[in-house]
Amino acid sequence: MYYGFDIGGTKIEFGAFDHELKRMATERVPTPGDDYQALLVTLSDLVKKYDFEFGVEGSIGIGIPGMESVDDGALLTSNVPAAKGQFLRKDLEALVQRPVKIANDANCFALSEAWDQEHQGEESVLGLILGTGFGGGIVINGHVVSGRSHVAGEIGHTRMPLDGWLHLQNSSLDKEAPLFGCGCDKQGCIDNYLSGRGFEQLYEHYYGERVKAVELIQRQAEGEAKAVEHVERFMELLAICLGNIFTAFDPNVVVLGGGLSNYDLIYQEMPKRIPKYLLPIGKVPKILKAKYGDSGGVRGAAFLNIS
Ligand SMILES: [Zn+2]
Repeated sequence: MYYGFDIGGTKIEFGAFDHELKRMATERVPTPGDDYQALLVTLSDLVKKYDFEFGVEGSIGIGIPGMESVDDGALLTSNVPAAKGQFLRKDLEALVQRPVKIANDANCFALSEAWDQEHQGEESVLGLILGTGFGGGIVINGHVVSGRSHVAGEIGHTRMPLDGWLHLQNSSLDKEAPLFGCGCDKQGCIDNYLSGRGFEQLYEHYYGERVKAVELIQRQAEGEAKAVEHVERFMELLAICLGNIFTAFDPNVVVLGGGLSNYDLIYQEMPKRIPKYLLPIGKVPKILKAKYGDSGGVRGAAFLNIS
């Protein structure tokens, strides 16, 4: 049995999956505010409860918005105060007497999609989240590649490519390209341009009005001129940036998640727009909408233990 925990700022989702990756149990509990001992007890109690219920010792994976420091294993997370700076993996291992794996929630998202029946034969799956932020995870042969410092897939914190910048600069409007600051203290990270937030920030920069992404999409569909122009600019920018990412990773399949991934126009436009940004022999991968929505985190956490 594979157990997964998706630990978020307000709730923890537990899922148990059998060896056919079928979900056998689900439980949601609140995340203890900043009480680390309460967090450990919550996790270990769930493990013991389901060990007893299924009569097995399940393997354990944790997905969390953050990552372990490679230096000492302390958790770097700002969204889960109870786990911040703690040695969650080691401490839980001691409590439940078995190995525990832990990964960033974007990696878990990618892993969940990669283990979907449709993609299991694919060598590489790149999961990209177009949500509040822009980030992703890389899965090769069914395993997450987390990298030397656990930052592999943090694509949102690469900077805007030059052709993207020129594209934003050469707007028909009399506006400079916007240089957005980032939560990582740098400027020009593509997180701030390609995420749902970026989609809104770009509109605000060019047209001086903050409008929700869903509203902009609605206006574009109705043919409203500014929204049409904005979406055109955004789609080309997305194609430029994805072209770069695909040249670096050349994935077989790309799965998009997050709020903006529900914008169906992306799936029509990207295959048409991306080829000119690739090497001549480069091929656009299959670009698909994520299947598992909110349950991607817990699935991916559980599947960290598939070998
Ligand atoms: Zn950044």
